[in-house]
This record gives sequence, C-alpha cells and structure tokens, in this order.
Amino acid sequence: MQSRQRGAARRDVDCFSKLGIVRSNTAKNNKNKKKKKMDQAMSNVARAVESGATTIRGIVDATGLSRLKVERALHALEKQKLLLRDSRGFTAPGMLATPQVRQCGSCSRCCTLLEVTEVGKSVNEWCKHCDVDKGCTIYDDRPQMCRSFNCAWLQGHLADEWFPERARMVVHFSQDAVNVQVDPGYPDRWRQEPYFSKLCEWSLNGIRMNGNRSYATLIVSGPDKFLLLGRTIVPEPTLFGTAFLPVAAETFRYWKARSPEHLHRLYGRITEIQRIQQEFGYCAIPDDDDPYPPYRPALLRLSNHPHAESDAESA
Ligand code: SF4
Ligand code: SF4
Repeated sequence: MQSRQRGAARRDVDCFSKLGIVRSNTAKNNKNKKKKKMDQAMSNVARAVESGATTIRGIVDATGLSRLKVERALHALEKQKLLLRDSRGFTAPGMLATPQVRQCGSCSRCCTLLEVTEVGKSVNEWCKHCDVDKGCTIYDDRPQMCRSFNCAWLQGHLADEWFPERARMVVHFSQDAVNVQVDPGYPDRWRQEPYFSKLCEWSLNGIRMNGNRSYATLIVSGPDKFLLLGRTIVPEPTLFGTAFLPVAAETFRYWKARSPEHLHRLYGRITEIQRIQQEFGYCAIPDDDDPYPPYRPALLRLSNHPHAESDAESA
C-alpha cells in the first residue's frame, strides 16, 4: 500500500440539505437577519471543525468566511459549549469521535464515486486523471474541490471497517447532512452490518440535535436515494422535506411533502397528534398523507377518545 494523498470533490448537495429538517421562517427584521447570518456562520464553522479543521486558518479556508466572522462564530460556539479549544486546536464534542490521522493509501473511491464538476467527472465514473497505480496524475494542479475534500473515514470519524476501498462507500459531510455515496457494484452494502447500525446511530443523533445543528442522513446508491430516520428508511425523499413522528425508540412514521405548504400542514397535524398524546396518553396515527385543518376533531374521532364528540363540537 503506497502512502499517497488523494482528494476529490464533494458534490454540492443543496438539494438534499432541506430533507428531514425544518428550518425557521424567513427573518422579518434586521435583527433577525443578523441572527440568521450568525447562525449560518456558526453552522458552517461547526461543520468545518467536525470535518477536521482545527485552526482559524483552516476554518477560513474550509468555509470561505472572513477571519472576523470565523472568530465571532468560534466565540459564540465556545460560549455555548458546542466547541472546545485546547492545545490541539478546535474540536467539536458530541456528534462524532475525536478525529485520528489517516492516509488515503490504496483508496481512490472518491475519485470514482463522487461528482467533480471542475474535471467534468460525473458520479460513479472514473476520473480521467486517476491512475489506479499512481493516484492523481494532476496532483499538484488538482481542483480546489479535490484539495479540500476529506471523507469521514480519512478524518478519523469512522472505524477501520469503513475504509472506503473496503466498505465500498464514501461518507462525507455537507452543510446539513451526512452523505453516503455507495458503490453501485455493491448497492446494498449500506444495509449490511456493521454499517447500517452506525448509520442509524448517526441519523438519530442528527434528528436529536437542536436548531441549526440538526442534520439529515442521506444515502445515494446508484439511481436510488434514501433518507434515514433511525431504522426507518425513506425511499426517494422529496426536495420539500419529510415530516416524521417517532413511533418507537428508533423508528418513525413519515410523510413525504409535495410542497412547502404541504410540509407545513403535515407538521401541523403532527403537532396536534403529540398534543393529544400528551393529553390522553394515546393518539391514533392516520394513514392519509394530505391533511387539512382543523386536525384535532378527526384525530380524536380516529382515536376513539371518550370526549371526542363534545371536544370536536366545541373546536
Ligand atoms: S474516499 Fe477517503 S480515503 Fe479514499 S481516497 Fe477519497 S478521501 Fe481518501
Ligand atoms: S482530479 Fe480526479 S484523480 Fe485527481 S484528485 Fe480530483 S477526482 Fe481524484
């Protein structure tokens, strides 16, 4: 195994960034706008640290933010104890294990599985600059996307069995997601152990994170896309989001939204379901996926609660 460095671009996964995550509404005044910008900067900085940046310079390079913005975001994150500063630089507690130092070695999975627009490379095709024996033939002139890319295994966030050449998957982070790109020759690898349990664990962590720290766990396997909600697999999630409700420790009921307004209604009903669960200890979960308010009367009737009729009449 040669010791060599490789890198490849990660595809901008903006289209996925909204999946499974509901964000706050548009800011209505300048104060809110400033706060939103600060939240965004904090999120970018936290993600850069989780991706391996340990110095201010490294975070500036990874995020494209000015040094001043990075310093402000770091200060806010440290204050909220979302980031630690020690002799090794910055680290992010909670989400992922402390990174280890690794090398790509014999791996070139990201140069085959991921899209690199700067060299005209699509997903799941060999980069024309990738030599199986020598690695990147334009290493000194490789695009910035390739220079800045480090998969989650390389960053030390995953155990040895996740070595991409062996796992046949490349795991990488984007703004709001853990992304898993699966080798199309091994399309079900991510469903196998020990991989699936780890992905479930990450998914649950991402769902439990608050505010702009939450993230989705997304799997792309050949032409198929999946959103993971704990052990619940959502095939072909839509761009508008997926509303979900826990039904057991690691499983969820979900409804895929067809528009922002539809997502809003789905979450409106979920809120009412949770309210009824708190009040009565139980609420039936409807099968239909196109609810309209008022949600409470229909939910009470469906749940056969004794006071359903009078409650519904007064609603
Ligand atoms: S997938 Fe990870 S380990 Fe493999 S070459 Fe790319 S960055 Fe290196
Ligand atoms: S230019 Fe091609 S071979 Fe070189 S690092 Fe980027 S994707 Fe890999």
